[in-house]
Amino acid sequence: MSTTPSPAPAELAPHYPVVVVGGGQAGLSTSHYLKQQGIAHVVLEKRRVGHSWRSERWDSFCLVTPNWQCRLPDFPYAGPEPQGFMLRDQIVAYLEAFAARVQPPLIEGVAVTRVSRHVSGAFEVDTSIGRCLADHVVVATGGYDIPIVPPCAHGLPDSITQVHSVAYRNPAQLPPGEVLVVGSGQSGVQIMEDLHLAGRKVHLAVGSAPRSPRVYRGREATEWLHEMGFYELTVDRHPLGDEARHKTNHYMTGRDGGHEIDLRRFALEGVKLYGTLADIRGGVVGFKADLTRNLDEADEVYCSIRRDIDAYIARAGIEAPEEAPFHKAWVPQGDPEQLDLQAAGITSIVWAIGFRADYRWIDLPAFDGRGHPRFTRGVSPVPGLYFLGLPWLNTWGSGRFLGVADDARHLVDVIRQRLGDAREGVNTEAAQAVAA
Ligand SMILES: Cc1cc2nc3c(=O)[nH]c(=O)nc-3n(C[C@H](O)[C@H](O)[C@H](O)COP(=O)(O)OP(=O)(O)OC[C@H]3O[C@@H](n4cnc5c(N)ncnc54)[C@H](O)[C@@H]3O)c2cc1C
Repeated sequence: MSTTPSPAPAELAPHYPVVVVGGGQAGLSTSHYLKQQGIAHVVLEKRRVGHSWRSERWDSFCLVTPNWQCRLPDFPYAGPEPQGFMLRDQIVAYLEAFAARVQPPLIEGVAVTRVSRHVSGAFEVDTSIGRCLADHVVVATGGYDIPIVPPCAHGLPDSITQVHSVAYRNPAQLPPGEVLVVGSGQSGVQIMEDLHLAGRKVHLAVGSAPRSPRVYRGREATEWLHEMGFYELTVDRHPLGDEARHKTNHYMTGRDGGHEIDLRRFALEGVKLYGTLADIRGGVVGFKADLTRNLDEADEVYCSIRRDIDAYIARAGIEAPEEAPFHKAWVPQGDPEQLDLQAAGITSIVWAIGFRADYRWIDLPAFDGRGHPRFTRGVSPVPGLYFLGLPWLNTWGSGRFLGVADDARHLVDVIRQRLGDAREGVNTEAAQAVAA
């Protein structure tokens, strides 16, 4: 189903109070609140609304977060399975329904190619269809721009098919033979499971990602965490501070109703585990000798979440079923350090080691030495420039369906205050024009 862009301008106006870059859940949420406040704006989307969910996820993809956590502004999940996990096409449909409700002033197929300061003091916004000026720019481009493939991948023989997780669709896409999945974050373990369930022989390079229980003491772990106030924790109170933004997500899955992922159990079923990828030389992949440690550390995080839930249950005097203590279902006999691809019959590699954001098109001093955007709750040090939809922008839910509404509302409040009641963007005329 294609989203019908709301009364979209055929071309850019010379000037907007607000330009929103990106038509995903973050950009649409911003548009929702801007419309509510009667602030004139445009949403520019390089491809189509919901592109990343529609085109950058594999066929069996489903949410890891339960449906009840889908809380787009004034549009929470209202389907029959709040405890379920929407499949890819259902997520796209949810987003398209939200877009249909918001009716954003959206132009699809338009890429913003540069944002810089114009002599007038406004922002100069260059796009694939021309230039406009803006008083405020909200960057809602998602942050998963560049799929990471390690430089040593160039050393692989041509006979090995390489696919990044963003381009992985299903097991049949890969040539016959065994598969090496590199990376054990959420994507890596889910793709490993997808291949394993299809009967493919899988090898997995296990990194340092932590893992989470799914159901514990009779309830979904996210429900306990919700009740314990974890989702209200803000990054300024997080023990890791801003570094929380760069931590790998806990792995588990929503597949088939949701379950935890214990890689030791997959090892018992025949999946071959290795440590972190170290190098590739002449068809031989080298790994760090850290498999044992990585499995242990993932389990330690898993157990610490269980302990936190136990403590909460005890404190609150809740009656909840007891659970058997965690035990290691399998322990590696040493840390394998090499894998000869040809000897193992491996014909393809799936890279699942993440993405980098690409902000090179923003020509403004809003970034730290590592190229990460600087902001407080999305408000950058460059007056009028904002970021939205990034992990731990403010809370755990900021980069997810759960928290984007709060962050978007906050940014629009800031924009409204800055525009001031007397400005053209905040008057009844503008509100009517946008809503028309
Ligand atoms: C594999 C994976 C699994 C995830 N699972 C979950 C989950 O279970 N639950 C959950 O809540 N979250 C999950 N997320 C996180 C998050 O919800 C998604 O990343 C979501 O897509 C973020 O929405 P967004 O609007 O911030 O960014 P996006 O959906 O990426 O939207 C950004 C949009 O900006 C457009 N764009 C980019 N650059 C430009 C430009 N220069 N000009 C114009 N347009 C541009 C893109 O085309 C895109 O449509 C997952 C993320 C990934 C990668």
